[in-house]
Amino acid sequence: MSGLKSVVCPYCGFGCKLLVDPKTLRVKPHHGEPNRGKLCPKGLHAAEVVTSKDRLKRPLKRVGSAMVPISWGRAIEEIANKLLEIRELYGPDAVAFIASSKVSNEENYLLQKIARLFGTNNIDNCARLCHEASVHALKLAVGAGAQTNPYEDLEGFNAILIWGYNPAETHPVVMDYILRAKRKGAKVIVVDVRETRTMALADYKLVIRPGTDITLANAMMHVIIREELYNEDFVRSRTRGFSEVKMTVRKYTPEYAERVTGIPAETIREAAGAFALAGSGAIMWGMGLTQHVSGVENVLAIIDLALLLGYIGERGGLYPMRGQNNVQGAAYMGALSEFLPGYVPLTDERFRKRVASIWGVEDLPTERGLYLTELWDAVEEGNLRALYIVGENPAVSEADFIRVREALRKLDLLVVQDIFPTRTARYAHYLLPAAAFCEKSGSYMNSERRIQWSEKACEPYADSKPDWEILTMLGRALGLPGFNYASVEEVTAEYFRLFPELEERTVEELKNSDGIFLPRKRLHTWEFATPDGKARLIAVEQISPWETPDEEYPFVLTTVRLISHYNTGEMTLRSPSLVKLAGEPEALISERDAAKLGIADGDWVEIETRRGRIRMRAKVGGVPQGVVAVPFHFKANRLTGSALNKAGTPEFKYSACRVRKVQEG
Ligand code: SF4
Repeated sequence: MSGLKSVVCPYCGFGCKLLVDPKTLRVKPHHGEPNRGKLCPKGLHAAEVVTSKDRLKRPLKRVGSAMVPISWGRAIEEIANKLLEIRELYGPDAVAFIASSKVSNEENYLLQKIARLFGTNNIDNCARLCHEASVHALKLAVGAGAQTNPYEDLEGFNAILIWGYNPAETHPVVMDYILRAKRKGAKVIVVDVRETRTMALADYKLVIRPGTDITLANAMMHVIIREELYNEDFVRSRTRGFSEVKMTVRKYTPEYAERVTGIPAETIREAAGAFALAGSGAIMWGMGLTQHVSGVENVLAIIDLALLLGYIGERGGLYPMRGQNNVQGAAYMGALSEFLPGYVPLTDERFRKRVASIWGVEDLPTERGLYLTELWDAVEEGNLRALYIVGENPAVSEADFIRVREALRKLDLLVVQDIFPTRTARYAHYLLPAAAFCEKSGSYMNSERRIQWSEKACEPYADSKPDWEILTMLGRALGLPGFNYASVEEVTAEYFRLFPELEERTVEELKNSDGIFLPRKRLHTWEFATPDGKARLIAVEQISPWETPDEEYPFVLTTVRLISHYNTGEMTLRSPSLVKLAGEPEALISERDAAKLGIADGDWVEIETRRGRIRMRAKVGGVPQGVVAVPFHFKANRLTGSALNKAGTPEFKYSACRVRKVQEG
């Protein structure tokens, strides 16, 4: 093992560690927690992106239509001057910062520190696009917006309910934990809009009509309450709101739910009974629940289900499985426009002043900043003039991205800091080359809130620099206090000071461990993080999608993920092994719909919504009638709508569309 560097995988939020050979960049799995000797194809081939010929080599500046080289010193000075000029003219809220779920805790911490010291809470990250609805719902119901239990607990539960989530493709290594639980006798229940790979191992397969999740959850609770299968002691002693939930779910009979969800009433009864009688259970969910206009309410409904059964602490857990390797860390570090670090509200004066004093100022801005998904309208309205983006690609990742590209074009200043010239980089005034994941060290937080240290395995490519170094230069050029970091460890030590649970811990301790859980391994074991220590059962009714099928657009379009690709594809599409493994992207259409439209496997089809159209080869089967599924990684957001839920997440999972066969792509 000696000489191998222990590096956090740059892809999903499961948080596997890779052992990287510094000379060859070959990758082997780490045998400790959390991946226990396993890796999925993305992790195994992670180093291929590091040596891609597409890497950004040096800072570039737009001059006319060309991007020309500029020195680091000059680039940072010009960017800082322009930001200060815009602040002088339009105020600090005319500037926004997008942090990255792919860079370290330290780097996210520094970017949100820059934003807040600059005078704005316009700092956000792509958690807004995935699990922010989970954060809002969890905070409302149990007082803390994160996964409650570690992965290791999954193996000990008697039932696992997987809802709107396909770990076999999105977090393949967690499947090992689920399989081990199943081997010990756990019942696995999977709810999804199509027969996913994950569903292959389910004891109960609930293929649900898109957008009807609340009806199903309420019907399951209806069965559990009517048959008195709920945990009365737990409900009485640790929750509030039972009678409202009982009243609300009364009308959601399994027969009614069958008509709405398409799932047979008997299956609903059996699945509800099996989950309740198991005695312990986890609920794992993904974007199938959160990326709806009803995202917050969808999550509240399944939290209600867990609370009714007392599946919290030792007897159960809530697992909102995070998408990107450091999306949990980005949020925890405060790269969110409505929260300070640790999800503390901006209005919490005591904590805010404490952070301010650590940063050497009196106070910080208190007004909520713009959500990532609100930036584009702000540009159109003339309220946002400058955007600084670290490692994100909104020109592809945002819903209805044509609208986003128009907004990017209108900015007075767009800075993109990334490892590749992404689609977003085409609109940049300055492009800053960042070091890749194994070219720098720092800490990351996975979905189970485990902070892990990632070692540097090789030198940064060409003239690229670690993001923390670039941000330190920027903070200094902006004249902000405290930007004198000589090492990334100094930043780690500073963010440790913000959290009482980390105050006594050292960076060395983190480096020599399998990780540190923040705030602790299991949440809510004795009491909830609410003011009175009790959880809230919050009754919710079914909410309709923003755009429903009609004669013109008769299908429901949903977006799905593939095992070999990741997000907007900027990394995985540059990995030859993953491209080969993934093959060509395909749009799934049911046998019946395909027959009606004369579509066969491999035909080109055009999928169109009110916002745009894309072409793709068809794959017949794998989705119910009336549903079309396209992989998210390939321009699917030309089609999706920008209606937002209460947490600011767009409805990526539900749009009205039409499909036709075409001759070529
Ligand atoms: Fe990386 Fe996730 Fe695959 Fe693990 S499961 S190797 S963290 S992409």
